[in-house]
Amino acid sequence: MKVCVIGAGVVGCASAYQLARVGHEVLLLDSAPQPASGASFANGAQLSYSYVEPLANPATFKSIPKMLLDPQSPLGLRLRPSVSQWKWIASFLRSCAPERSRRGSLALLASASLSRMTNERWMAEDGLDFAVQRNGKLVLCPNAESLASQARQIQLQSGRGAEQTLLTRDACVSLEPALASYPGFVGGVWTPSECAADPRAYCNALLHTASTRGIRMQWSTTASSFVIENQRVVCLHTSAGEITADAFVLATGIDAPQLARQLGESLLIEPIKGFSLTLGMHPGQRAPVTSVTDLARKTVLAPLGGKLRVAAFAELGRMDLKIPARRLAQIQRTVETIYPGLCDFNAPGAWAGLRPATPDSLPVVRQSRVANAFLNVGHGALGFTLAAGCAVQITEAIHEARGRPQSNTPLSASPAAAPRCA
Ligand SMILES: Cc1cc2nc3c(=O)[nH]c(=O)nc-3n(C[C@H](O)[C@H](O)[C@H](O)COP(=O)(O)OP(=O)(O)OC[C@H]3O[C@@H](n4cnc5c(N)ncnc54)[C@H](O)[C@@H]3O)c2cc1C
Repeated sequence: MKVCVIGAGVVGCASAYQLARVGHEVLLLDSAPQPASGASFANGAQLSYSYVEPLANPATFKSIPKMLLDPQSPLGLRLRPSVSQWKWIASFLRSCAPERSRRGSLALLASASLSRMTNERWMAEDGLDFAVQRNGKLVLCPNAESLASQARQIQLQSGRGAEQTLLTRDACVSLEPALASYPGFVGGVWTPSECAADPRAYCNALLHTASTRGIRMQWSTTASSFVIENQRVVCLHTSAGEITADAFVLATGIDAPQLARQLGESLLIEPIKGFSLTLGMHPGQRAPVTSVTDLARKTVLAPLGGKLRVAAFAELGRMDLKIPARRLAQIQRTVETIYPGLCDFNAPGAWAGLRPATPDSLPVVRQSRVANAFLNVGHGALGFTLAAGCAVQITEAIHEARGRPQSNTPLSASPAAAPRCA
């Protein structure tokens, strides 16, 4: 088949890679001049295969009043006059119920486990090299309550491929001596099998490795509208002309709802803005060796290629990519508190990105209401972690749809303004 993948973030690159790997002719296009220009540019670098608890959980629910009142809170909310945002929030609140959150965790764990297997296979069989670091992850708990909540999560996940151990503060420090002077935790969770890598290096490595399999790439090309006839996309209009294909995969991150609407889909995907700094470390200081997540400050600190990648904050409803000085200062203070004197803040490599989030943190990976158009969107805070597994799932969905009779259900939202193919 000829498959057109729209969007070259981690999700689109992994999808294009898997499709080319199983023998399809793939065209990958993106409105940016290079891959990983959106949320995948400089994220927290975590391949967080065992740490997948949805943002919608009972603990987040309890922290909502503080989040609304405290401007320093790592979680933020900006209400917009937008029906889709309000629907998203209502669905998010429902998803915080313990049983729903539990089911979400298990579904994400299964998807992350498929991702781990897929990435390992690509590395072993295809020689994919994206400098993955197998240095484990330590999640720091600020108090006994959060330690107890982590213990419940470990129990839920045990026996499902997630090897995790609850540690005392002393055990955490002997594992990661660079934390010795940080007083902000009473214990933690150690997951030795967690990995870290640079998401942009991942995209580049995928496309480099795939180039020998005949994948074509088209940059600076914006997909604008689908032309749909008899419940099939017959062509895609782009800023660089028309594209025809047997199947189309939408992997446009936060921009997915607009194009998906033309496919009769109303996706609940909202931006959750976050920030990262990529910091040089002073030589002679005790540099950390593991990835560390500080639960109280909702901050991830990962040693990455001789630098420290620090990612923080989850602000729902912010659409812009501005980096306010107060957020920058807050992250710098956190780094100084956790690893005093370690980092050089002169060239902080600051970045902001929008996580494309669904209310329950579960991505949308399936056939759309139009027979030959597929959705691989809404990966929220876990897109890097889930990309490879979702690439396998979307490839299977395309194969399954090929053998299935076409649906006759008419679309509720048709692309009225879309021009026809030439
Ligand atoms: C601060 C921060 C930290 C994070 N940390 C982690 C982490 O540690 N681990 C993890 O697993 N995840 C993490 N994430 C989440 C992860 O980065 C995202 O889930 C992931 O990048 C989403 O990938 P994507 O390919 O769906 O979207 P994107 O990377 O945004 O890619 C979408 C692409 O589609 C293109 N596009 C959009 N519209 C069009 C169009 N009309 N035509 C053509 N192209 C189009 C865009 O240019 C873009 O390149 C983090 C996110 C943030 C913001």
